[in-house]
Amino acid sequence: MHALDKTEAKFALLKTRLSEISDIESAAAVLHWDQATYMPIAGASARGRQLATLKQISHEKFIDPAIGQLLEDLRPCEASLPYDSTAASLIRIARKDYDRAVRVPSEFMAQFSRHQAACYEAWAKAKADNNFAAVEPYLEKTLELSQEYSDFFPNNEHIADPLIDLSDCGMTVANLRPLFAELREELIPIVDAIASQPSADDSCLHQDFPESQQLEFCRTIIERIGFDFKRGRQDKTLHPFMTNFSIDDVRITTRVYENNLAQALFSTIHEMGHALYELGNSPEFESTPLAGGISSGVHESQSRLWENLVGHSRGFWECFYPQLQGVFLRQLGQVSINTFYQAINKVACTPIRTDADEVTYNLHVMIRFDLELALLEGKIAVRDLPEAWNECYRRDLGLVPASDSIGVMQDVHWYVGTIGGMFQGYALGNLMSAQFYEAALKFDPEIAVEIEQGNFSLLHNWLKKNIYQHGRKYSAAELMERVTGSALTIKPFIGYIRQKYGDFYSF
Ligand code: ZN
Repeated sequence: MHALDKTEAKFALLKTRLSEISDIESAAAVLHWDQATYMPIAGASARGRQLATLKQISHEKFIDPAIGQLLEDLRPCEASLPYDSTAASLIRIARKDYDRAVRVPSEFMAQFSRHQAACYEAWAKAKADNNFAAVEPYLEKTLELSQEYSDFFPNNEHIADPLIDLSDCGMTVANLRPLFAELREELIPIVDAIASQPSADDSCLHQDFPESQQLEFCRTIIERIGFDFKRGRQDKTLHPFMTNFSIDDVRITTRVYENNLAQALFSTIHEMGHALYELGNSPEFESTPLAGGISSGVHESQSRLWENLVGHSRGFWECFYPQLQGVFLRQLGQVSINTFYQAINKVACTPIRTDADEVTYNLHVMIRFDLELALLEGKIAVRDLPEAWNECYRRDLGLVPASDSIGVMQDVHWYVGTIGGMFQGYALGNLMSAQFYEAALKFDPEIAVEIEQGNFSLLHNWLKKNIYQHGRKYSAAELMERVTGSALTIKPFIGYIRQKYGDFYSF
């Protein structure tokens, strides 16, 4: 065999191996989707076991030294190809994933995942009983395991860096802290100014809106935007999410509150944004490590772009409000578009992150980020977390949650994941969404005009070409630089907030 043929054979073998692993992970994703949508409750323990088995098989197959050897042998091939070629990118990303995976012993991963399942169960009960003390020992163990995980990656500047790297690769405490400090400094005076003024009346959203009509309208909207129901579907769940089993099979889920029109509507548009990203991957990335989204921040930027910058815009509703009124004539027939627009953009300091508007949302996220770091650094103890949480809410949002259930226990993340790296992606996503959208409008100002007519193809095509098709090929920082011509900054987001909310409130 010639050297070239040998290289080609090795590359083909690597692709086959990685594709098998991707198949196992997709099968696990189907099981997980089923668990969250249709599975009868009694199936939970068997399902947990099945998922753990698949996770273990895929992990073992991936950390096989033979894969490490193939990646090593393919180094010269990678170096000889252009950086952004599919083959070089595939080898580069697979190596990055491999290097990370082999550092953490399988037994540790298994122990961590068993603990996470137990912690989740304890959290669900503790939250229902408003009893933080019941979940406290579990959370202490999570903190310990998170610190231990971090220890597998020596030479990091901050203990949280390896945990942040898991979801927002390339981001570190050293670059996030100043970014978030700047963001907080800009946001706090805006939130204070808004809070001192009368808040918008959103009672029009809290009437009786039958579930079937809501679901039908949501379906109409996302189909019009570009969600292809031949390559995806939407189902109901408790906590909305997006998952996918291939580039051509993407699932979104939603929940419907009959007394709150905003819930299903905007969570559907949000999850659709995640789905369009995955559906827009280059088809040649199918079952390779290049498929998917590059980071939680970039993924969230795509959901927030559609949900907020488009879905909460005046232009969007110029087109869709008459249709919405047609569906809910009794409830909205007498409500003006102005009233509706102000209702969906109501700004209010609330204790719950997922209920937060786009002005206050980042404050919720940054509180969690700070607390994660303080816990990892040993500056606060788990038992003092509820008090620290409430103090942060008093400081930034001027309120104290009425209970720990809607305070420190409101989000599932720490109780089913790690402490560290769980939240920064939400704030990064908001910042990135504004920076990407600004670049899109600069490229073609017609995008905004088209949206008012209910045409989304200009924007959708721009996103496909500049972001979606690349999957995991470029790092978040590389993508940002390529698409917008500069590194991530808070300016487009703050500019957007000032312009939009400056029209409603004076600040
Ligand atoms: Zn999201």
